[in-house]
Amino acid sequence: MSRQLAAALLALALLGGCATPPPARPVALAHQARSAAPANPAADDDLNAVAWSQTAIEHDLIYLQTYRDAQSRLLAALHDPDWDALPKNDRMAPSRGLKPAVVLDVDETVLDNSPYQARLIRSGGEYNEADWAAWCKEEAARALPGAVQFTRFAASHGIAVIYISNRAQDLDQVTLANLRKVGFPVSGTQSFLGLGTFVKGCEQVGTEKTCRRQLISRRYRVLMQIGDQIGDFVDVIANTAAGRRQAMNPYLDWVGRRWFVLPNATYGSWEPALFNNDWTAPRERRRKQKIDALRYH
Ligand SMILES: [Mg+2]
Repeated sequence: MSRQLAAALLALALLGGCATPPPARPVALAHQARSAAPANPAADDDLNAVAWSQTAIEHDLIYLQTYRDAQSRLLAALHDPDWDALPKNDRMAPSRGLKPAVVLDVDETVLDNSPYQARLIRSGGEYNEADWAAWCKEEAARALPGAVQFTRFAASHGIAVIYISNRAQDLDQVTLANLRKVGFPVSGTQSFLGLGTFVKGCEQVGTEKTCRRQLISRRYRVLMQIGDQIGDFVDVIANTAAGRRQAMNPYLDWVGRRWFVLPNATYGSWEPALFNNDWTAPRERRRKQKIDALRYH
């Protein structure tokens, strides 16, 4: 999957393997889903972000307008034989003449995992791999607004819909089942490239998606990429605020044309960039570093 695990793995790569992911906190999620919040809940840094993503219509409208905008531009991209949305370093074969495709991330791009975040708020917990896998296996994530319509529109025009996700590859079947349940077009397991997908001749570093984009580039001309993390579009060499901007700078003209970026204030690699990607630091220290990273003028 993406989020903190992605960040922890990225930190591993950046720090030469010194960092470790946050410790697992075994939590009975199914039980928690039925229980009420405590009377005096502890403060949680993610509360506003999760409440916004679940309840604010503005959240839904941003997704809707992004997917509508992408859809309105898709056929022009299809009919331009030189149109391609992969970063140049990821293009392994000339795109002209290849079958068209759109590439989408899964979590917080097409599937809404905010109930998982909500459960963490209620339990006072933090992301861990076991709870995350349990949530994925529920196959209960809803579709985000506009995403089903966009992907079905693409498929109806002969455009392959490919999902590149940092959900672990062994979650492929439950993820595909969840996608199908809520109406996304899925054409076999080849349409889901999870974390751990083997790509001959390319060594994956952390959770980066470069190898998988390169794999796609051999068979497809990519019309658009859609995601909620810049790592969904381009390799991020240094996960710092400056490094993230540097990674996107060469492609700013592509944003809103070939690349469509969705909002995720609940989690993402933007967050550990504020505390040196060190998930092993105590929560309070991470919070202090985030406060220190704010602008006051
Ligand atoms: Mg995502």
